[in-house]
Amino acid sequence: MDFSRIEVDDDLAAFVAEVRDFIATHVTEEVHEEERRTGGSFNLALHKALGAKGWILPRRPPEQGGAGLDRVRERVLELEMERAGAPDITLGTTRLVLTAVEKYAAPDLAAELVPKVARGDVRFCLGYSEPDGGSDIAAARTRAVRDGDQWTINGQKIFTTGAQNCQYTFLITRTDPDLPKHKGLTMFLVPLDSPGVEIGPIHTVGGERTNVVYYGDVCVSDRYRLGPVNGGWGVLRGPLDEEHFGAGHDDGLSDLGIGSSWARRQERDVRAAVRWARTARRPDGSRPIDDPRVRARLGQAALDVEASLATPGPMGRVRVSETMIEVAAGLVDLIGPEALLPHGADGCLEDGAFDYAHRFAQGTAIYGGTTEVFRNIIAQHVLGLPRPVYPGSRKLADSRGS
Ligand SMILES: Cc1cc2nc3c(=O)[nH]c(=O)nc-3n(C[C@H](O)[C@H](O)[C@H](O)COP(=O)(O)OP(=O)(O)OC[C@H]3O[C@@H](n4cnc5c(N)ncnc54)[C@H](O)[C@@H]3O)c2cc1C
Repeated sequence: MDFSRIEVDDDLAAFVAEVRDFIATHVTEEVHEEERRTGGSFNLALHKALGAKGWILPRRPPEQGGAGLDRVRERVLELEMERAGAPDITLGTTRLVLTAVEKYAAPDLAAELVPKVARGDVRFCLGYSEPDGGSDIAAARTRAVRDGDQWTINGQKIFTTGAQNCQYTFLITRTDPDLPKHKGLTMFLVPLDSPGVEIGPIHTVGGERTNVVYYGDVCVSDRYRLGPVNGGWGVLRGPLDEEHFGAGHDDGLSDLGIGSSWARRQERDVRAAVRWARTARRPDGSRPIDDPRVRARLGQAALDVEASLATPGPMGRVRVSETMIEVAAGLVDLIGPEALLPHGADGCLEDGAFDYAHRFAQGTAIYGGTTEVFRNIIAQHVLGLPRPVYPGSRKLADSRGS
């Protein structure tokens, strides 16, 4: 087995130190405080500072606004930022969409946007889900109607995370309702400051801020269309496949499964629980860690998180989410009521880490595709099973009739 051991020479060690310095300067307590307050998973000053270093698109050459990092350095940057708890959702959605912009946007639009993205001035969010169902993205009903060189968009998207911090949304629209559902879609990059766009906050139990976005007679120039009219599904596939299957690096450095960054968060929570077990005192003066049952439960939690990290591809996505929910609940059960005190409350443990982990874990079963939908992906794309047939579908009716 290739464990891809990395030799840390002086040069690489200097880079690690540079990243840690950057984090000490820019991922400050104020950044964490803002995140706790807003749940936006974005900090403008930090994002711009990343841009100034060329670290938004770190592998691109400096003439494209990047830092020309090799894969090892890129991975170091990624892991150090993650360990520091740097807010990064908008960074992630921007990178996802950029691939499609470079492939499908008119060359002048791509040439205008890439340097702005690299500097941190332009950011993208994902406008897929609609109130009638986010799992079936191809059922989108938001309408785009063409009039010469302009399109008029009407509809509503929900859970457009980061819209309040982005300049454009990567919007899937219906342009021909008479075509089969996957064939009547067109993709746009809609400027979020367009008249008729209205963004409203949604706050989740996990402390995240996402949005409902209304589009009322929003006029968009054809310049902002990505790919062919009615060919939107093909444009969407790239970013969607990356969310479902990963970026496709096969270099021994990348995460094995989807959702591993969440699991690494949970590793921190388990370590926090071990700290609690070593320092807390029971009424008889003993420490929880002295109890073999506590040690066994902490060991099991650590093992479960490790197993979720080692589960590859879309299976990892299901395993990570289910482990997060179970382990977070298990830690609360083990520690007791104090674990449910939120950050800032009198007597809260580990800065409220256990309460937060418990709430945050729930959403991981939903966004980026629910764990049920990932099970379908595993069935069809990993196990090669046929597409599921649902009650009410024509296929089921046909098969019963025959
Ligand atoms: C915090 C948060 C952030 C999000 N960010 C974004 C974002 O930035 N952009 C964006 O576009 N969306 C975003 N989403 C939306 C997310 O992708 C959807 O919520 C998710 O895909 C599920 O869609 P839904 O909520 O409409 O549920 P539905 O699709 O209505 O599903 C309801 C239930 O039915 C199950 N189900 C549906 N279809 C199937 C099936 N075929 N087989 C088995 N079970 C099925 C689901 O698993 C679920 O349990 C976000 C959601 C949350 C909560």
